[in-house]
Amino acid sequence: MRALLDFLLPPRCRLCGRSTRRQPLPWVCQGCWLAIEYATPPWCAQCGQPLAAPAEAIASPGHRCGACLLTPPPFERARAVGLYRGTLREILHLAKYQGVYGLLAPLAELLQAQFAFHWGDIALDALVPVPLHRQRLRQREFDQALVLARGLARACGIPLWADVLVRQRATVSQVGLNPAQRRQNVRGAFALRHAERCAGAALLLIDDVYTTGATAGECARLLRRAGARWIGVYTVARVA
Ligand SMILES: [Zn+2]
Ligand SMILES: [Zn+2]
Repeated sequence: MRALLDFLLPPRCRLCGRSTRRQPLPWVCQGCWLAIEYATPPWCAQCGQPLAAPAEAIASPGHRCGACLLTPPPFERARAVGLYRGTLREILHLAKYQGVYGLLAPLAELLQAQFAFHWGDIALDALVPVPLHRQRLRQREFDQALVLARGLARACGIPLWADVLVRQRATVSQVGLNPAQRRQNVRGAFALRHAERCAGAALLLIDDVYTTGATAGECARLLRRAGARWIGVYTVARVA
């Protein structure tokens, strides 16, 4: 079927327009996929913000960025596979806003490929996707954080707790808001279900993009209040 379709309607990369015939993905060519910029150390030990100084100039592996020193986030560690710019940004936009649902499986594979590197030292009890509001879910038809978390949970053999966090009110888009406005915007946006499960648990929040950490922070605060012992945040991309 794919071969026939390829013949009648040659697939093209949605980013650069080159043919993707006989390539693993019909929507994004190998060249664009390989141009994804990975997040590389040194980074802030807590929020994962890439640090400008060279690795040898960073005093300790536990070095934190100015923002984390000033206002420590309510989670232990945030890490992302790549930087939210260039082709990765475009790929996430295709998946998120243009309904190219098939891109979520290879994006979940990116999370899986770096999982041991970022989280191998933690005995995680469960993965918790950052929930999308039902209203957005209707517009977009799928919940990308849930799909990513489900793929990763299956690949890593870690339980998926998709019903622990729910959005209880819609938030306006975070685009264009400063960090303080973002924190304000998501305050009270989530509610906790099955709080008893979280007591003493080591949990990893899963989302597509980490911007200022406001959304992940709000989720982490709720999990912490329910007694979670350790909270990490793992995203496909991070704003550098
Ligand atoms: Zn391309
Ligand atoms: Zn930081």
